[in-house]
Amino acid sequence: MIPVIYHPSYNITAFGLERLHPFDSRKYQRIHDALITRGLRRRGDFLRPRPVSRTDLLKVHTAQYLDSLRQPAVLARILEVPIVRRLPAWLLDWRVLGPMRLACGGTILACRQALEYGLAINLGGGYHHAAGGWGGGFCVYADIPLAAKTLHDEGRVAKAMVVDLDAHQGNGTASVFQSWPWATIFDLFERNLFPTHKEPEAYPLPVPTGLGGPEYLQIVEDALPVALDTVRPDLLIYNAGSDVFVGDPLAGFRLSANEVAERDLRVVTIARERDIPVAMVLSGGYSSESWRIHTDGIEGILTRFDGGRSIAPT
Ligand SMILES: [Zn+2]
Repeated sequence: MIPVIYHPSYNITAFGLERLHPFDSRKYQRIHDALITRGLRRRGDFLRPRPVSRTDLLKVHTAQYLDSLRQPAVLARILEVPIVRRLPAWLLDWRVLGPMRLACGGTILACRQALEYGLAINLGGGYHHAAGGWGGGFCVYADIPLAAKTLHDEGRVAKAMVVDLDAHQGNGTASVFQSWPWATIFDLFERNLFPTHKEPEAYPLPVPTGLGGPEYLQIVEDALPVALDTVRPDLLIYNAGSDVFVGDPLAGFRLSANEVAERDLRVVTIARERDIPVAMVLSGGYSSESWRIHTDGIEGILTRFDGGRSIAPT
């Protein structure tokens, strides 16, 4: 069985605070529950991560940045929820940052499991707007670079590649990777969206607003194999943002729910055909349907890859 990582504390519930941002912070639980309801997993099948420590975070973040997170005003800006500046730092650490540190642990665990089993999915993480010394767009900690660096430092990953198909540019991940020659990012994003300043990347694919599903899938089909065959990474971290869905309020792509699920399956299949381990993280998705779209994508992947087969017949 493909390892699926989840912890009930992924879900951010801070006295209604979570409803002030379009992000559905309970979507992790909804996906977990739906995987059980659909008969894909039982309650005890999910792996539980441990939260990352400050020492872990210092592999990627500056001490100055981590210290700044004790100021509610700094967090209010990163989380895009102004009322946060009025809340005590201890409460924010407990109810907002704690769940995020747990999800960072989930991304590291997903990468470890991927190296062992070929494929693993973290039902959280993907905070791709966080860099070493700054955060933004609801992203505080750079979980993807942290996971890559952890395994690189252990000598288990020589070359890491991120495939970021969230609708927004992964500017945080890209910023960290600029000083790491062993890490590469392939990033298909909507040109006119947040962030205004785009970071330089190895494989940037900026596309115009309104791109439809067939065109989008064709770009993935054409460009991703070339990038993978050029870089030949030992680990692929797939940032599977669902905000490319046509109903997403924060982006302008026009993919149907089925096309988003098809995208997820194609990415994983293209990588597994090359024997590249894949760790998938969820990242953005702001419609009320986001949890269902992620679940459909994961269902397609589990249906094809569960059962000990590294490549199933297509
Ligand atoms: Zn996004």
